[in-house]
Amino acid sequence: MSRTPSTPGPPGGRDRYARTLTPRPGAARVPGDPPAVAVAGGGIAGLAAATGLAERGVAVTLYERETVLGGRLAGWPVTLADGTHATMSRGFHAFFRQYYNLRELLRRADPALEMLTGLPDYPLRHRSGLHDGFRRVPRTPPWSALGFAVLSPTFGARELLRMSPAAALPLFDVRVPGVYQRLDDVSAHDFLASVRFPQAASHLAFEVFSRSFFAAPHTLSAAEMALMFHIYFLGSSEGLLFDVPNEPFPMALWDPLAHRLAASGVRLRTATPVERVDPLPDGGFAVADGSGTRRFDAVVLALDTSGLRTLVARSPHLADASWRAGIARLRTAPAFLVSRLWLDRPMAPGRPGFLGTSGYGTLDNVSVLNHWEGEASRWAARTGGSVVELHAYARPEDALREVEQKRLLDQLHQVYPETRHAAVVDARHAWHADCPLFAVGGYADRPTVRTPHPGLVVAGDLVRTELPVALMERAATSGFLASNALLERWGLQGQTLWTVPDRGRSAALRAVARWAGGRGRSASAADSQGY
Ligand SMILES: Cc1cc2nc3c(=O)[nH]c(=O)nc-3n(C[C@H](O)[C@H](O)[C@H](O)COP(=O)(O)OP(=O)(O)OC[C@H]3O[C@@H](n4cnc5c(N)ncnc54)[C@H](O)[C@@H]3O)c2cc1C
Repeated sequence: MSRTPSTPGPPGGRDRYARTLTPRPGAARVPGDPPAVAVAGGGIAGLAAATGLAERGVAVTLYERETVLGGRLAGWPVTLADGTHATMSRGFHAFFRQYYNLRELLRRADPALEMLTGLPDYPLRHRSGLHDGFRRVPRTPPWSALGFAVLSPTFGARELLRMSPAAALPLFDVRVPGVYQRLDDVSAHDFLASVRFPQAASHLAFEVFSRSFFAAPHTLSAAEMALMFHIYFLGSSEGLLFDVPNEPFPMALWDPLAHRLAASGVRLRTATPVERVDPLPDGGFAVADGSGTRRFDAVVLALDTSGLRTLVARSPHLADASWRAGIARLRTAPAFLVSRLWLDRPMAPGRPGFLGTSGYGTLDNVSVLNHWEGEASRWAARTGGSVVELHAYARPEDALREVEQKRLLDQLHQVYPETRHAAVVDARHAWHADCPLFAVGGYADRPTVRTPHPGLVVAGDLVRTELPVALMERAATSGFLASNALLERWGLQGQTLWTVPDRGRSAALRAVARWAGGRGRSASAADSQGY
């Protein structure tokens, strides 16, 4: 896949420096008997891979362990105490405008993205009373960073003078994989300390972002944090603006996409975990599920961290020993809690649809679902109540669930005091630990899309794509990259992909950053790879 300057730019994007990744030329459809591919995992990554392959006529069978598609964005039915049928999920997800490849995947079933609705701001609030937001901040770097510093109450003149600009320079020249060579062995916490970033801003901005990776700043790789800052702030003109689905995930996203996949011939096998994958002498693979074994020409592993670790441990002949050892060392981030509460009264007027929080204890954010999600808003309109969702990330292993759930409710009472006297009509709590941990020094162990076996590819938000993408966008991009790698083998055309710019935007700042960062050590390593 080659990189070209951005002509044309990403669909719907406003960033003229966004990158276009043009796939190798090839046939639009399989000419004869189609190759057969097993995609293991029905989250965003698996759905993107299945889409990319099926659109070229490849015979795809998608295996998903759970009864529903969507992975971490799956939804499941619940019946509330008042008899209402509702949908529970891991809840609030921000669909940023620079998620070009995810949005292209969703456009397959909804060309105008009518199921997404924009929220007006990304407000942040610290318990001390400090507020921040990004609505008024200019969207084009470097004005975004300067605007944030000028408009934010967390940057006083004294704090700005204390900062170490030289230590902050790597943030202005983020390239992949150079940023990992430079910063993967440092924790996000230590990096911020070296920058002497104002403490209030650090708590409000960086900690909220770092915890969005489900890790406390002292366990998160500084490279991953710097990359995130590049994608969402310093490197992209799309800004920190995001959309949310206007109905629960299954109705808005996965049912329509599944319908489309089935219509293009994909066999969707939910409630069917893949138990083992073995390479065959003819170059294909034997894929075993509970009911038997089938032969495939190629396999996409689009699993979460523990799913991938388990499957590879059960498949001792896959790829090679060093690849398998790297997979065995992958780590899962600590558990998180999502509490959804159906309350008997409305929230005070003006409460935002989403609020990032810091300093309250365990609470990371609060969403008022009935402000933007159809199902919740219909319930609120009918009952006069409200539907609120609370997230707490990176909870310790020995956390007592009942205690944590109660603590979260107490923190809601502090953030939105009108909820103190509300009766809880129903409460659902989702505890999971299925996000990858981007641990300090862990980059080298993460699998790339391609493996030592040309017919075996990996996708998911844990994968090293060597591109500036993260979270849901990394899942979608790696899924398409996995399908492109297979399509290329068969002389078929892959998908065009886009990313935010893959280097710092300002040539002057890049030059200074390169000079300061070990006299060009890591940046020139990236340069030498042609990025
Ligand atoms: C609470 C929460 C909030 C988040 N908020 C955001 C956000 O605001 N913005 C953002 O960009 N990202 C966010 N994320 C991250 C986002 O959810 C993930 O990056 C994304 O969903 C990962 O998709 P995936 O396809 O890589 O993995 P997954 O969604 O985990 O899919 C892997 C699938 O593999 C299946 N599987 C496992 N083992 C097997 C097997 N043996 N056989 C068959 N199937 C198997 C699993 O059941 C699962 O469906 C959030 C995550 C959580 C939990």
